[in-house]
Amino acid sequence: MDLFEYQARDLFEKHGVPVLQGIVATTPEEAKAAAEKIGGVTVVKAQVKVGGRGKAGGVKVAKTADEAYEYAQQILGMDIKGHTVHRVMIAQGADIAEEYYFSILLDRANRSYLAMCSVEGGVEIEQLAVERPEALARVEVVPTEGITEAKAREIVAQAKFDEETAAKVVPVLVKLWDVFKKEDATLVEVNPLVKTGDGQVIALDGKVTLDENAEFRQADHAELVDKSSADPLEEKAKEHDLNYVKLDGEVGIIGNGAGLVMSTLDVVAYAGEKHGDVKPANFLDIGGGASAEVMAAGLDVILNDPQVKSVFVNVFGGITACDAVANGIVKALEILGDEEDKPLVVRLDGNNVEEGRRILAAANHPLVTLAETMDEGADKAAELAHAAN
Ligand code: GDP
Ligand code: MG
Repeated sequence: MDLFEYQARDLFEKHGVPVLQGIVATTPEEAKAAAEKIGGVTVVKAQVKVGGRGKAGGVKVAKTADEAYEYAQQILGMDIKGHTVHRVMIAQGADIAEEYYFSILLDRANRSYLAMCSVEGGVEIEQLAVERPEALARVEVVPTEGITEAKAREIVAQAKFDEETAAKVVPVLVKLWDVFKKEDATLVEVNPLVKTGDGQVIALDGKVTLDENAEFRQADHAELVDKSSADPLEEKAKEHDLNYVKLDGEVGIIGNGAGLVMSTLDVVAYAGEKHGDVKPANFLDIGGGASAEVMAAGLDVILNDPQVKSVFVNVFGGITACDAVANGIVKALEILGDEEDKPLVVRLDGNNVEEGRRILAAANHPLVTLAETMDEGADKAAELAHAAN
């Protein structure tokens, strides 16, 4: 999970990394109040999860609170590389003497961590790495050892900091390692890390990626999730532990096992060519145990997609036998009741298929059509979606 700059700033502060005051605002009025509270020169910074905000006009230095109001008005709602700005951070202005670069990241190829550091910060690091690779120090950080003071000294020496600055940067790098380790991050990047006119070293812009695999031991991270930009259907699916990806078509798909669902998408897209070019509306893998609750949750997610006109349930009974799946579908339709008004095509095969089909036939639900094969089911579902379109 990528964090917003203000969230990274808060984590830095929590672990003792020197940062400047920052207040989040969602309106120009809030921005003005924040600038008044901070006092003096402030910087209005777009909060989007993409780099190069400065160049795109998303970072503006405001001399007065009224200026902060104006810049917030300009920046809020702005589109930066496809990301709409919903919040700005009003940051205390810094008197920048020099800009440096520092990052710690997971080095997958070497099964280790890598620290990168440069006295030429502020610019885009990808560009620096290509144009002047010698200006970018790369130092391996052994996971079990981390960035000790000695390791930090090695990093700043390779980056060719002068003695005086090096002494000030070293403790900051050690604290940034604390952020990386204690928060279970896979990336901590500070660009720029600055030296101010009066010689302080401060993290001015932070980018942090947290490792979602560590969720179980990082209870605090749940509140960092940006719910405003998440797709509501994908959120709902996540709540039920369903593997759901919204696509652009009209035929809802439910299957068990990622491989089967993927091939179902192909078969439906192919069948759709004969029926007004309808396409799959989603990927949804309900996994191994297709209980009634899971089936109902899956159907609920798909039927709430207004683009969906028909649903194709394609299940291969393995460990979970087809009769259990059929009962799941019948119960799911009961749970959903009148909410379910879109045609459903069901194809079952595998373990105990005869009993499964018998259960569905006996239920005789008006919206359910049984299909013998995957191709037949895909064709029927595409036809029904086209007819309803
Ligand atoms: P990015 O463009 O998304 O990386 O945003 P940054 O937060 O890194 O800001 C871009 C640039 O704006 C920095 O490299 C600085 O040169 C400048 N900047 C940011 N904050 C301040 C500040 O407080 N004072 C001054 N003078 N410049 C700033
Ligand atoms: Mg930056």
